[in-house]
Amino acid sequence: MSTAVHHLNCATMAPALAAGGRVTPVRMVAHCLLVEAPDRLVLVDTGFGTADLASPRKRMGLGFVSAMRPALDPAETAVSQVRGLGHDPADVTDIVLTHLDLDHAGGLGDFPAARVHVYADELAAARARRTLNEKGRYVPAQWAHGPRWTTHAAAGEEWLGFAAVTALADDVLLVPLHGHTRGHCGVAVRRPSGGWFLHAGDSYFFHDEVRTPPACPSGLRIFQSLMQMDGKARVANQERLRHLHADHGPGSGAAEVVTVFSAHDATEYDALAGGTD
Ligand SMILES: [Zn+2]
Repeated sequence: MSTAVHHLNCATMAPALAAGGRVTPVRMVAHCLLVEAPDRLVLVDTGFGTADLASPRKRMGLGFVSAMRPALDPAETAVSQVRGLGHDPADVTDIVLTHLDLDHAGGLGDFPAARVHVYADELAAARARRTLNEKGRYVPAQWAHGPRWTTHAAAGEEWLGFAAVTALADDVLLVPLHGHTRGHCGVAVRRPSGGWFLHAGDSYFFHDEVRTPPACPSGLRIFQSLMQMDGKARVANQERLRHLHADHGPGSGAAEVVTVFSAHDATEYDALAGGTD
Protein backbone atom coordinates (compact mmCIF):
# COMPACT_ATOMS: atom_id res chain seq x y z
CA MET A 1 0.00 0.00 0.00
CA SER A 2 1.40 3.37 -0.99
CA THR A 3 2.04 5.91 1.75
CA ALA A 4 2.50 9.05 -0.35
CA VAL A 5 1.97 10.26 -3.91
CA HIS A 6 3.94 13.26 -5.19
CA HIS A 7 3.16 15.19 -8.38
CA LEU A 8 6.24 16.11 -10.41
CA ASN A 9 6.52 18.27 -13.50
CA CYS A 10 9.41 16.72 -15.41
CA ALA A 11 9.36 19.09 -18.42
CA THR A 12 7.95 22.56 -18.88
CA MET A 13 7.23 23.38 -22.53
CA ALA A 14 6.25 26.67 -24.21
CA PRO A 15 4.75 25.77 -27.62
CA ALA A 16 5.95 28.13 -30.35
CA LEU A 17 2.50 28.39 -31.95
CA ALA A 18 0.58 29.14 -28.75
CA ALA A 19 -0.57 32.61 -29.94
CA GLY A 20 -1.20 33.77 -26.39
CA GLY A 21 -3.14 30.61 -25.55
CA ARG A 22 -5.60 30.79 -28.45
CA VAL A 23 -3.99 27.98 -30.46
CA THR A 24 -2.35 25.96 -27.69
CA PRO A 25 -1.78 26.72 -24.00
CA VAL A 26 1.28 28.96 -23.48
CA ARG A 27 2.67 26.56 -20.89
CA MET A 28 2.55 22.79 -20.92
CA VAL A 29 4.02 20.32 -18.44
CA ALA A 30 5.03 16.66 -18.25
CA HIS A 31 3.01 15.49 -15.25
CA CYS A 32 4.66 12.51 -13.53
CA LEU A 33 4.03 10.81 -10.18
CA LEU A 34 6.34 9.47 -7.52
CA VAL A 35 4.55 6.84 -5.44
CA GLU A 36 6.17 5.95 -2.13
CA ALA A 37 5.48 2.62 -0.43
CA PRO A 38 7.38 0.82 2.33
CA ASP A 39 8.69 -1.82 -0.06
CA ARG A 40 9.03 0.15 -3.31
CA LEU A 41 9.39 3.51 -5.00
CA VAL A 42 7.43 3.93 -8.21
CA LEU A 43 7.63 6.57 -10.94
CA VAL A 44 4.72 7.05 -13.34
CA ASP A 45 6.19 8.48 -16.58
CA THR A 46 9.58 10.18 -16.65
CA GLY A 47 9.53 13.33 -18.83
CA PHE A 48 12.96 14.28 -20.17
CA GLY A 49 16.13 12.85 -18.65
CA THR A 50 19.67 14.13 -18.18
CA ALA A 51 20.82 12.70 -21.55
CA ASP A 52 17.97 14.57 -23.34
CA LEU A 53 19.06 17.82 -21.72
CA ALA A 54 22.71 17.22 -22.62
CA SER A 55 21.96 17.08 -26.37
CA PRO A 56 18.32 18.04 -26.93
CA ARG A 57 18.40 18.43 -30.71
CA LYS A 58 20.14 15.11 -31.24
CA ARG A 59 17.86 13.23 -28.85
CA MET A 60 14.48 14.84 -29.45
CA GLY A 61 14.95 16.20 -32.96
CA LEU A 62 15.09 19.81 -34.11
CA GLY A 63 11.38 19.76 -35.06
CA PHE A 64 10.25 18.81 -31.56
CA VAL A 65 12.63 21.22 -29.82
CA SER A 66 11.60 24.20 -31.97
CA ALA A 67 7.88 23.44 -31.82
CA MET A 68 7.62 22.62 -28.09
CA ARG A 69 10.51 24.75 -26.76
CA PRO A 70 11.26 22.64 -23.64
CA ALA A 71 12.78 24.56 -20.72
CA LEU A 72 15.60 21.97 -20.41
CA ASP A 73 15.97 22.75 -16.71
CA PRO A 74 18.05 20.09 -14.90
CA ALA A 75 15.99 20.73 -11.75
CA GLU A 76 12.92 19.41 -13.60
CA THR A 77 14.37 15.97 -14.35
CA ALA A 78 12.75 13.15 -12.40
CA VAL A 79 16.15 12.08 -11.06
CA SER A 80 16.77 15.53 -9.58
CA GLN A 81 13.28 15.67 -8.02
CA VAL A 82 13.58 12.16 -6.60
CA ARG A 83 16.79 13.31 -4.87
CA GLY A 84 15.03 16.48 -3.72
CA LEU A 85 12.41 14.33 -1.98
CA GLY A 86 15.18 12.63 -0.01
CA HIS A 87 15.54 9.42 -2.02
CA ASP A 88 18.48 7.75 -3.71
CA PRO A 89 17.49 7.42 -7.41
CA ALA A 90 18.87 3.87 -7.26
CA ASP A 91 16.00 3.07 -4.88
CA VAL A 92 13.37 3.62 -7.60
CA THR A 93 12.24 0.03 -8.03
CA ASP A 94 9.58 0.46 -10.72
CA ILE A 95 8.62 2.83 -13.53
CA VAL A 96 5.15 2.61 -15.04
CA LEU A 97 4.79 4.27 -18.46
CA THR A 98 1.60 5.54 -20.10
CA HIS A 99 3.44 5.09 -23.42
CA LEU A 100 6.89 5.39 -24.92
CA ASP A 101 6.73 8.78 -26.68
CA LEU A 102 9.94 10.75 -26.24
CA ASP A 103 8.46 13.19 -23.71
CA HIS A 104 7.45 10.30 -21.42
CA ALA A 105 10.36 7.86 -21.72
CA GLY A 106 13.28 10.34 -21.63
CA GLY A 107 14.14 9.77 -17.98
CA LEU A 108 14.43 5.96 -18.19
CA GLY A 109 18.22 6.07 -18.48
CA ASP A 110 18.50 7.87 -15.13
CA PHE A 111 17.02 4.79 -13.39
CA PRO A 112 18.76 1.89 -15.14
CA ALA A 113 18.01 -0.65 -12.40
CA ALA A 114 14.24 -0.06 -12.26
CA ARG A 115 11.70 -2.50 -13.69
CA VAL A 116 9.85 -0.69 -16.50
CA HIS A 117 6.17 -1.59 -16.85
CA VAL A 118 4.54 -0.93 -20.19
CA TYR A 119 1.68 -2.36 -22.22
CA ALA A 120 3.02 -5.10 -24.52
CA ASP A 121 1.55 -3.53 -27.70
CA GLU A 122 3.29 -0.26 -26.87
CA LEU A 123 6.75 -1.78 -26.53
CA ALA A 124 6.22 -3.68 -29.77
CA ALA A 125 5.17 -0.47 -31.58
CA ALA A 126 8.11 1.51 -30.20
CA ARG A 127 10.58 -1.17 -31.24
CA ALA A 128 9.07 -1.60 -34.73
CA ARG A 129 8.62 2.14 -35.52
CA ARG A 130 6.62 1.11 -38.56
CA THR A 131 5.39 4.53 -39.74
CA LEU A 132 7.03 7.92 -40.28
CA ASN A 133 5.00 9.20 -37.32
CA GLU A 134 6.43 6.44 -35.12
CA LYS A 135 9.98 7.00 -36.35
CA GLY A 136 9.70 10.56 -35.03
CA ARG A 137 7.88 9.99 -31.74
CA TYR A 138 9.90 7.02 -30.45
CA VAL A 139 13.59 7.61 -29.65
CA PRO A 140 15.39 4.25 -29.17
CA ALA A 141 18.42 6.05 -27.64
CA GLN A 142 16.20 6.66 -24.60
CA TRP A 143 16.11 2.93 -23.88
CA ALA A 144 19.45 1.91 -25.39
CA HIS A 145 20.70 1.02 -21.89
CA GLY A 146 18.39 -2.01 -21.92
CA PRO A 147 15.71 -1.42 -19.27
CA ARG A 148 14.28 -4.34 -17.29
CA TRP A 149 11.05 -4.36 -19.30
CA THR A 150 7.97 -5.88 -17.70
CA THR A 151 5.27 -6.06 -20.35
CA HIS A 152 1.58 -6.35 -19.57
CA ALA A 153 -1.39 -7.34 -21.70
CA ALA A 154 -5.16 -7.38 -21.20
CA ALA A 155 -6.00 -9.70 -18.32
CA GLY A 156 -9.78 -9.47 -18.07
CA GLU A 157 -9.69 -7.40 -14.90
CA GLU A 158 -11.96 -4.43 -14.50
CA TRP A 159 -11.64 -1.03 -12.87
CA LEU A 160 -14.77 1.16 -12.76
CA GLY A 161 -15.95 -0.24 -16.08
CA PHE A 162 -12.56 0.05 -17.77
CA ALA A 163 -10.35 -2.88 -18.66
CA ALA A 164 -7.40 -2.92 -16.29
CA VAL A 165 -4.16 -4.76 -15.68
CA THR A 166 -2.52 -4.93 -12.30
CA ALA A 167 0.98 -3.52 -12.64
CA LEU A 168 1.92 -3.45 -8.97
CA ALA A 169 -0.07 -5.05 -6.14
CA ASP A 170 -3.60 -3.68 -6.06
CA ASP A 171 -2.75 0.00 -6.05
CA VAL A 172 -1.10 0.69 -9.41
CA LEU A 173 -3.05 -0.40 -12.50
CA LEU A 174 -2.54 -0.02 -16.22
CA VAL A 175 -5.83 1.07 -17.83
CA PRO A 176 -5.69 0.56 -21.62
CA LEU A 177 -6.64 3.81 -23.39
CA HIS A 178 -5.34 3.10 -26.87
CA GLY A 179 -5.53 5.60 -29.72
CA HIS A 180 -2.82 8.21 -29.21
CA THR A 181 -0.39 5.31 -29.67
CA ARG A 182 -1.02 1.62 -30.31
CA GLY A 183 -0.52 0.59 -26.68
CA HIS A 184 -1.24 3.80 -24.79
CA CYS A 185 -2.55 3.31 -21.24
CA GLY A 186 -3.72 5.37 -18.32
CA VAL A 187 -2.21 4.56 -14.93
CA ALA A 188 -4.58 4.35 -11.95
CA VAL A 189 -2.93 4.92 -8.57
CA ARG A 190 -4.77 4.32 -5.31
CA ARG A 191 -4.48 7.42 -3.10
CA PRO A 192 -3.35 6.92 0.50
CA SER A 193 -6.07 9.42 1.47
CA GLY A 194 -8.78 7.41 -0.35
CA GLY A 195 -10.01 7.20 -3.92
CA TRP A 196 -7.82 7.15 -7.01
CA PHE A 197 -5.69 9.22 -9.32
CA LEU A 198 -5.97 8.35 -13.00
CA HIS A 199 -2.94 9.57 -14.95
CA ALA A 200 -4.54 9.60 -18.40
CA GLY A 201 -1.28 10.26 -20.24
CA ASP A 202 -1.93 11.76 -23.67
CA SER A 203 -5.46 10.40 -24.07
CA TYR A 204 -6.49 14.06 -23.82
CA PHE A 205 -4.45 17.26 -23.66
CA PHE A 206 -6.70 20.00 -22.26
CA HIS A 207 -8.62 19.96 -18.97
CA ASP A 208 -11.94 20.94 -20.56
CA GLU A 209 -11.85 17.91 -22.85
CA VAL A 210 -13.11 15.74 -19.97
CA ARG A 211 -15.68 18.28 -18.87
CA THR A 212 -19.17 18.74 -20.34
CA PRO A 213 -19.44 20.30 -22.86
CA PRO A 214 -15.86 19.51 -23.93
CA ALA A 215 -13.59 22.25 -25.26
CA CYS A 216 -10.02 22.38 -26.56
CA PRO A 217 -7.86 25.06 -28.23
CA SER A 218 -7.76 24.49 -32.00
CA GLY A 219 -4.03 23.81 -32.29
CA LEU A 220 -4.13 21.13 -29.61
CA ARG A 221 -7.12 19.51 -31.29
CA ILE A 222 -5.28 19.35 -34.62
CA PHE A 223 -2.10 18.11 -32.94
CA GLN A 224 -3.97 15.23 -31.31
CA SER A 225 -5.45 14.17 -34.66
CA LEU A 226 -2.05 14.33 -36.33
CA MET A 227 -0.42 12.20 -33.64
CA GLN A 228 -3.14 9.55 -33.23
CA MET A 229 -2.52 5.98 -34.33
CA ASP A 230 -6.23 5.04 -34.01
CA GLY A 231 -8.58 8.00 -34.18
CA LYS A 232 -11.77 6.08 -33.47
CA ALA A 233 -10.35 4.50 -30.32
CA ARG A 234 -8.86 7.82 -29.17
CA VAL A 235 -12.16 9.71 -29.48
CA ALA A 236 -14.13 6.87 -27.85
CA ASN A 237 -11.70 6.71 -24.91
CA GLN A 238 -11.88 10.47 -24.42
CA GLU A 239 -15.66 10.12 -24.25
CA ARG A 240 -15.33 7.37 -21.63
CA LEU A 241 -13.02 9.59 -19.57
CA ARG A 242 -15.63 12.35 -19.76
CA HIS A 243 -18.21 9.96 -18.28
CA LEU A 244 -15.73 8.79 -15.65
CA HIS A 245 -15.10 12.39 -14.59
CA ALA A 246 -18.85 13.15 -14.47
CA ASP A 247 -19.74 10.00 -12.51
CA HIS A 248 -16.68 9.62 -10.26
CA GLY A 249 -14.83 12.96 -10.34
CA PRO A 250 -14.44 15.33 -7.38
CA GLY A 251 -17.87 16.74 -6.53
CA SER A 252 -19.72 13.79 -8.09
CA GLY A 253 -20.62 12.34 -4.71
CA ALA A 254 -19.16 8.98 -5.75
CA ALA A 255 -18.03 6.64 -2.97
CA GLU A 256 -14.60 6.28 -4.58
CA VAL A 257 -13.59 9.60 -6.11
CA VAL A 258 -11.34 9.44 -9.18
CA THR A 259 -9.20 12.48 -9.94
CA VAL A 260 -8.27 12.22 -13.60
CA PHE A 261 -5.54 14.34 -15.19
CA SER A 262 -3.61 14.36 -18.44
CA ALA A 263 0.14 14.47 -18.89
CA HIS A 264 0.53 17.94 -20.36
CA ASP A 265 -2.20 20.16 -18.91
CA ALA A 266 -0.65 22.79 -16.62
CA THR A 267 -4.02 23.76 -15.05
CA GLU A 268 -4.56 20.20 -13.79
CA TYR A 269 -0.95 19.95 -12.65
CA ASP A 270 -1.07 23.25 -10.73
CA ALA A 271 -4.25 22.16 -8.93
CA LEU A 272 -2.60 18.94 -7.71
CA ALA A 273 1.09 19.87 -7.24
CA GLY A 274 2.07 20.34 -3.64
CA GLY A 275 -1.06 18.56 -2.41
CA THR A 276 -0.70 16.12 0.48
CA ASP A 277 -1.43 12.51 -0.28
ZN1 LIG B 1 3.18 13.42 -24.44
